[in-house]
Amino acid sequence: MTEPDRFPRAALPSVASTRAGGARAPLLPGAAIGILGGGQLGRMLGFAARAMGYRIVVLDPDSACPAAAIADRVVVGAYDDAAAAMELAGLADVVTYELEHVHAGVVGALEAHVPVRPGLVALRLTQDRLAERRFIAGLGIATAPWREASDDESLLAAARELGFPLRLKTPFGGYDGRSQVRIADAAGLSGALGRLGLTAGTALLVEAEVDFAMELSVVVARGLDGGTAAYPVGRNLHDAGILVESVVPAGVPAEVATAAEALGARIAEALDAVGVVTVELFLLRNGTLAVNELAPRVHNSGHWTIEGARTSQFEQHVRAICGLPLGDPTAYGPTAMVNLLGSGEPREASLVGAADALADPLAHLHVYAKRTVFERRKMGHLTVAGATTPDEALVRARAAAARLRWR
Ligand code: AMP
Repeated sequence: MTEPDRFPRAALPSVASTRAGGARAPLLPGAAIGILGGGQLGRMLGFAARAMGYRIVVLDPDSACPAAAIADRVVVGAYDDAAAAMELAGLADVVTYELEHVHAGVVGALEAHVPVRPGLVALRLTQDRLAERRFIAGLGIATAPWREASDDESLLAAARELGFPLRLKTPFGGYDGRSQVRIADAAGLSGALGRLGLTAGTALLVEAEVDFAMELSVVVARGLDGGTAAYPVGRNLHDAGILVESVVPAGVPAEVATAAEALGARIAEALDAVGVVTVELFLLRNGTLAVNELAPRVHNSGHWTIEGARTSQFEQHVRAICGLPLGDPTAYGPTAMVNLLGSGEPREASLVGAADALADPLAHLHVYAKRTVFERRKMGHLTVAGATTPDEALVRARAAAARLRWR
């Protein structure tokens, strides 16, 4: 099922002509980009792609998803709906995804018809936290100490080796801190599998809780020619697993920033990714880095690049997946991004305070046009670019964001 025909097939002559040059020829403006997922990331990708003259087809279960506003067409279907995915493939010259939780089998089938970027290998590895941990270990890159467990007995053995506190994470389907529980002591272990909705025999990632100095992330793009461009590393703050704010520069020693950026490029290469990849990191108290999570996509911690960098992560992703040269990822200067999270009972979203927030001339407001607001839902973000110091950017971004609320 699709939206009313705003994007008739007859209006797709570029599909044949742009493919004729082969998969490695650049896809030029006028070509159609398919996006699996129509949330805020798809919406912002779409803004960047449209600015460059590309057309957009989005697959999402909701015909009024945030990306619908920028899509030439929305194919309505679940992320595991093979028929809907095939419809998307028929309408697009290249397909990308804005979330990891799209069905890998469906993406595999899509690949037979159209290039899917950053790629199936990156998607499969990052969908499964255990596979991701093995991949990172294989590269000789540090993570928090971890074990695999599948029942009470192996969980107990892992806890004995790792100590407390622990983080138990389900391998599939977890993001924004969901599907993970913190276990403070041995008493907390009983019934933990059940609290995660797991039955005995299901594999589980058991991780030691690390006492990090700060959380960082590096957004890196890899082009079709294998070249990479890393954004300056950002410092992130999370609250109960959800990103709250990001600030650049991160305020870490130059060698840490360089190591983080090199690590991002190495991981993007090892994933053979084409597009933007994000690596979330812990900076440990001894000054070394440990990887927490990989995302083969544009990322919330890269939203600051829209106003704060010479090329936004969204434009960069479009350039990469279309086989164009990468843009300059340099930051213009100190930039801070604060997420606008919903609060209260689910209700129709109505934002109050925009004029007050924008009284700061360095503030930029992004609202994702979600119809319903609820507790902790990502509704938008606010960026302050052009401040003199990172702290000033952060203070001003927090102050402007505090003037906003959902009626
Ligand atoms: P995740 O869903 O794995 O990205 O985790 C979300 C957030 O939980 C991270 O950004 C950290 O703030 C926290 N977290 C996850 N794993 C650990 C860990 N092993 N030690 C300390 N904090 C963690």
